[in-house]
Order: sequence, then structure tokens, then C-alpha cells
Amino acid sequence: MKAISAYSFDLQQRSMAAVWHPCSIMKQHENHALIPIVRGEGTWLYDADGNRYLDAISSWWVNLFGHCNPDINAAIRDQLDKLEHVMLAGFAHEPAIQLAEKLKSLTANLLGHCFYASDGASATEIALKMSFHYWQLSGKQQKTNFIHLKNSYHGETLGALSVTDVVIFKQMYAPLLRQCATMPTPDWRYADAGESHKDYALRAASMLENYLAQHHATTAAFILEPLVQGAAGMGMYHPVYLQRAREICTQYQVHLIADEIAVGFGRTGTLFAYEQADAVPDFLCLAKGLSGGYLPLSVVMTSDNIYQPFYDEKSSRTFLHSHSHTGNALACRAALATLDLFEQQDVITNNRGKTTYLNKICEPLATHPRVRNFRNCGMIWAFEFETEEHDFATQCFQAALKQQLLLRPLDKTVYFMPPYIINQHEMNLLVSGTLNVLNTLSK
Ligand SMILES: *Cc1c(COP(=O)(O)O)cnc(C)c1O
Repeated sequence: MKAISAYSFDLQQRSMAAVWHPCSIMKQHENHALIPIVRGEGTWLYDADGNRYLDAISSWWVNLFGHCNPDINAAIRDQLDKLEHVMLAGFAHEPAIQLAEKLKSLTANLLGHCFYASDGASATEIALKMSFHYWQLSGKQQKTNFIHLKNSYHGETLGALSVTDVVIFKQMYAPLLRQCATMPTPDWRYADAGESHKDYALRAASMLENYLAQHHATTAAFILEPLVQGAAGMGMYHPVYLQRAREICTQYQVHLIADEIAVGFGRTGTLFAYEQADAVPDFLCLAKGLSGGYLPLSVVMTSDNIYQPFYDEKSSRTFLHSHSHTGNALACRAALATLDLFEQQDVITNNRGKTTYLNKICEPLATHPRVRNFRNCGMIWAFEFETEEHDFATQCFQAALKQQLLLRPLDKTVYFMPPYIINQHEMNLLVSGTLNVLNTLSK
């Protein structure tokens, strides 16, 4: 990497002084300087000194079609000169309508009511509140509890954090949170020796069933991340769990909330992960890739059946929840442009070829002596690095930068979640750079 310029140094100092960065131990940046990014293009990010980094994690899992994508940029520019934003209470606009219609059609018209918000955590809050409210309106007032999986992540606002099970995010705030029962995770890393991923998933599902057999009368909803538990360290599980969860929730009249904030839009190899188990949820939460990763936008989609009791004159039967930027026109246009790209470029099919190629060249990673549990689901790859080093994540991040890679391990889990536009040359760089990182850190 080039020496740090005066400009870059200035940006670092000013950011340290004025910006409180998310998910960051600010004091550690005394030793590990922040990286001022000035430009993005395709899979690459460029810093203020002209170094570039391959964005192997799609900037916190949001980017689908690269930075500064020409088609998405054009759509936002076009919208910018028409309408940037209008409140969605009492008003309507074409981008919000078109997007809702489009999303509805992508769920085979089963989830036809779209409630917009601005970020993922808000989508979780909305789904939880809607589920609770639905039961209040349906004569089942005792259904007030939510259940979630071990190692779940659904966002960090207080309601979302209540159904999240990641110790570092939750520990300090525990006194502020609702108590929610935690179900065993189907993540196959927890399977017994010799137990197949499918058998383990079925075992986890039977424990869910046992719980609901006892507690269904007080349970409003079960929230899960379909197929891949992201923040848990890309914990992957067999789709049979989803299928069983859907059946069990239906049997016990408990809503199934699919949090596809990270896994939606092709990440797991299908447009929505729930498709792989034909497990249509009662609520589908989408965000992150929804706008191609460009602008804050989320949506909760639900069925006619859930919508119906809210459709009434009385305010007590109305779902009262609002965010200032609900259904922002620029964000909706970015989302429409993103969905157009899926169609025009047959992305889901093309990604299959990329998955096959990356799996093939990952062979030396998968068989590396320090690598455990190498796994893949669609456009997500992950493995654990065997090390005693407590600071592995930071060291790996730093070593990766020297290889022109943006990798940001979750504890000892290294993962790839690249933008879908990644080409073979870039995939080669990703794998060879990661091998160099692992070999450096193995010494
Ligand atoms: C990122 C994420 C969220 C929270 O979304 P934000 O936009 O960061 O609030 C919720 N659930 C899952 C599965 C996520 O990956």
C-alpha cells in the first residue's frame, strides 16, 4: 500500500474527532487507522491514497451489482429531477406503487401488501408489531410472545434486539429487552458427529415442535433467517428445517416471519431463500440488497389474510407505525432498477455459473490445514480458521487490505459475499489473496 498522504491523514483525524463509527471500538483506531474511501467502481473501492480493495463482503451485505452501477445511477438521476421524496401518508407515487406491485408478483401474489420503512431493524419491528396486533384483532389476545433461533440476528433496535441472540450486541442492553424463548438452531455446525445436516435440521425442528405444542397459545410469531444465519458467522442449514418450521407454525397458529434482509435477492441461489423449501412466510422482511445497497429502504410484505382485520374505520384496528422516509421515491427507483437488472441479465442463472467456478477455485482454501467447515450457499462462502488468536478478525482484516481485499471476519469465520458482478479474474484474486492472508496468519 502507498504511504498515507496528508489528505488521507486529515480525513482519518477528522472522522475520529467527529464521527462515532458503528460496530467499532473507536479507541482501536488509534492503532488501526480508518480507511477514507473516495470512490467506488464495480467490485472495487478506492481510498484517498489510490489503493483499491475488492469488496468481497458487498459493504456489509448490501451491494448486489457493484458500486456506482451505471443503470442504478441513471434511474436515481432520472428520479431526482422529478420527485425526491413525499410523505406516504395520504400521498402516493409511482415508484412506491410499482415497487410494491413488482415485489408482490415476485411472491406469486401471495404477499401482496407492502409496508415500507428505511432499514432492516425497522422491518423487524414492523413485523413483530403487526403480528402481535393481528392476534389482538383476532380474539387471541394472549398471543404476545415471540420466539427466535439461537445465534439469530434481526437488528439492533430494542424490539429487534429482543429476538437477536448475539452476545456482544445484546449483553449490555439485556435489562431493556423483552424476554423471548430461544429455539435450538438448525445450523449444521452443531450437528453431532456422524449426523447428517438434514437429520440435524429435523432434530432441531422437532424441538421447535415440542416448544410450540406447549406454548402456542401465548406465542405470536417465530422469526428466523431462512437458510443462512448471517451474523452467527454464516451458519447454514438444510432447507427441510424451513419446510418443517412452516408446517409447525401453521399447525399451531403461530406466524412465521422470514427475515430475508441479508439472504433475499438471490444470495442463497434463489430470489428468496424461502422458495427452496416452498415455505411462504406470513411476513417477509427485506432490506439491504432491496435498493441494490444504494439507499436505506426496507419493506415488510404480508398476505391478504393478515391485512384484512386491519382494514377498518377504527383507529384501534389501524396499524400505526411510521418513519419519515417511508417509501422514499429515490430509494424505490433504485430498487426498481435493481429488480430490472435481475430480469435483463438473468442474474439467478448466471450466478449459478459463478458459484460453480468459485467453488472449484476454492479447493486449496477448503483443504487448507487450518480451515474448518468450508461451506457455500448460493453467493455466500464461509469457513472457520483454526487459531488461538483472540484478535484474529482484526488481524485478518488488516492482512487482507494488503492483498487488496475487503474481508471482515465474524470472529473466526471468514466469509465471502461478493457483488454479483464479480468476474473470474476478480474471483481468482479473491481466492489467491485470501490464501496469502491465511498463510501469513498461520505463521
Ligand atoms: C442487517 C440485518 C438486519 C438489520 O438491518 P439494518 O438495516 O442493519 O438495520 C436484520 N436482519 C438481518 C438478517 C440482517 O442481516
